Parts: sequence; structure tokens; C-alpha cells
Amino acid sequence: MTDLPLFPVTVVGSMPRSADLVRALRKKEAGEISFEEFNAVADKEVVATLELQIEAGVDIVSDGEQRRDNFYSYVVDKLHGMQLMKVSELLDYAKDRARLEEVLRALDVPAFAIRSPIVIDKLTKKTGLSLDEAAFVKEHCDLPVKVPIPGPYMLTRSAWFEGLSDKVYSSPDALAEDVVAILREEVLALKEMGVDFIQFDEPILSQVVFGEESKETFMCAALPDRRDPTEELEMAVRLMNETMEGITGVRTGVHVCRGNWSRKEEVLLTGNYGPMLPYLVQMNVDQLVLECATPRAGEMEVFKEYANEKEIGLGVVNPRTDELESTGQIVSRVKELLQYFDADKIFLNPDCGFGTFAERNVNDAAGAFKKLKVIAEAAKILRKEYA
Ligand SMILES: [Zn+2]
Repeated sequence: MTDLPLFPVTVVGSMPRSADLVRALRKKEAGEISFEEFNAVADKEVVATLELQIEAGVDIVSDGEQRRDNFYSYVVDKLHGMQLMKVSELLDYAKDRARLEEVLRALDVPAFAIRSPIVIDKLTKKTGLSLDEAAFVKEHCDLPVKVPIPGPYMLTRSAWFEGLSDKVYSSPDALAEDVVAILREEVLALKEMGVDFIQFDEPILSQVVFGEESKETFMCAALPDRRDPTEELEMAVRLMNETMEGITGVRTGVHVCRGNWSRKEEVLLTGNYGPMLPYLVQMNVDQLVLECATPRAGEMEVFKEYANEKEIGLGVVNPRTDELESTGQIVSRVKELLQYFDADKIFLNPDCGFGTFAERNVNDAAGAFKKLKVIAEAAKILRKEYA
């Protein structure tokens, strides 16, 4: 693994997408332009987002998920057996359509825009999930690279939809076997390519823990048969550990936040990491990449019991706001965490991506740049103090 400075600055994954890029993405989906034509546009955008991160002082860069429609739907292009379906199309299969529509409206979720990859046939790999993305970044940048991929639990849970998937896989557990095998191969291939940091995205864990019957996120479209949260969390741990079994030599992390689809903080989930931590620390990954800047993430004291058990990717800026956090705020947040984690276990990142969904950047490029830059400035101050 590459040597890193103390308090390495990184991103969670997505960076804002330009209007040109979103247009090209839609044309590609509609079959109006070829993959090659789309990639010509995306290549330029990835280079631009790498330059932005480097200029801001980011130590571990990502391709900004510029080639993806969102952090998990893009897998339909990489796997056989899946179909991209809008939440509005899934509504036709939902057990209680009227209720789901009402929930989506109340949550400010654009059901017309968000697309989910749904399993409709035996899942097999066309190509790696992110190997093309990683190869391009490695070719265009000398800095350490992070590649976010969907976690095994999320991929299984959000892709298995009753009425569509059960003809091929009797249950989510049956599907999970193939998902785990595909992700294992991916991790090994990314490691082989020299990727420094592989991040599994598992945001629906917060849905499982904090979602109430009356307040569910858009992912509820794929969670109609949700079981007890404990069972779901145990399943998430089991699938992660099956994916990672025996794999070492590459930094891995799991990212959990409480939703990043709206700038309206009040519609996003709320709750501290207390109920989740006993499970997250059982996952065979190096780092927990957590949203901690938003007050919705609750008190940091919950980490006391799990001091130094993992590295922490500490969310220190809110990607969804225009207000810029100060270096002072970031430094004091880190100092709070230093009660529980050694300095070399703390990485700094925004709470989540700046453009989780292509249709919904939560910030623009200028805003993202300022937020990353202030993190890098805070890191410099901290490095002086803790060197
Ligand atoms: Zn997130």
C-alpha cells in the first residue's frame, strides 16, 4: 500500500456531473450514442474532476463516478441478468403502490429519475464492475486511487425484487451467492491493478436501522419484505466477510450514510452509529467511512467503545450545503475523535458524494472544490500538530 500522510484527505466517491455529461449519459441510455461516444465525453470529465481534486489537495482521488448514473445502478452495464428500472416502473409491482407513491413524495425523492438495477435473470459478469474506471484513473493520475463499489448487501437487497427476481433466485440469500462471487473477483482484480482503496457502499444499512414504517427511503422499493434490523445487519456482515475472506494487501472500507438524495436535511434519516457499530466492526474491512459532519449523525461518543478497532473515514463537511465549514470546525471535530482513535487511523472526507445521483448533484464543482480545499487545509494544520 502507498505511504500516506497523516490525516489523508479523500472523497467518498461521486463528484458533481456537468450538464454535458448528464446529457451524454441519457443519450447513451436511450441508445442515441455509442459507449465509445459516451466515453469520449466522460474521459474529459474524469480528467477535469481529477484536476479539481488534485488542485484542492486531495490525497486519495476517485474518478468522481462520472461514468455512472448513480453509485449502484451503473452495474447493469457490467453484468448480465439485470435491468435498470425506474422507481416509478417498480411502483407497478409494489404491494402497496399508493402508499409508496405518497412516501416518495413526502421524502422529496424523484421517483421518475432514480433507477434501480433489478435482477431478472441469472447474474453473470460481462466485464469488471469498475476495472475500466480504475484503469483510466491510474493512467491519468499518479496519486493513490479510491474505487467505490456497491457493497454485497446493498447489491443483493436492492436488486432482488419480488415479482421480478424470484423466478431466477428464490430469495435474496440465493442471489447473494452470485453477488459475493462477482464482488470477490472485482476486489482481487482491483488489487492486482494497484488500486489503493476499495470502498464498499452500504448506505441502505441506515435505512434498515433508522427507517421507520412511516419514513422509508427510496430504497424501500426494493425492501418490501424487510426483516428485523438485526437479521439484516447480520446478513450484511456475513456477505461482506464472505466477499473479503482471505483477501489482504489492499485497503478496504465500508461507507454508510443516511441518504444523500436531497438538500432538505429534514427528509433524510437521523440517528447515531450506536446501533450499527457492533456490526460494522465485525466486517473484515480496514475502514469505516462515515458521515459525521451533519448533526443527524448524532454524537461521536458512540465510538468510545470501539476505539481503534478500525480506521475511520471521518465525514467533516456536509456535501449538501452552500455554507463552507471552517478549518477550525474540522480541526476540533478531529480532536474530538482523537479521544477514541490514534492519529494514523483517521482519514478525512466529506460526509458523502457530491453527486450521488446523476440527476441530482447536491453541490456544484465550485462548491465541491471549496469543501475539499478546506479539508486539505485542516489536514495541514493537524499534521503539524500531530507529526
Ligand atoms: Zn453516502
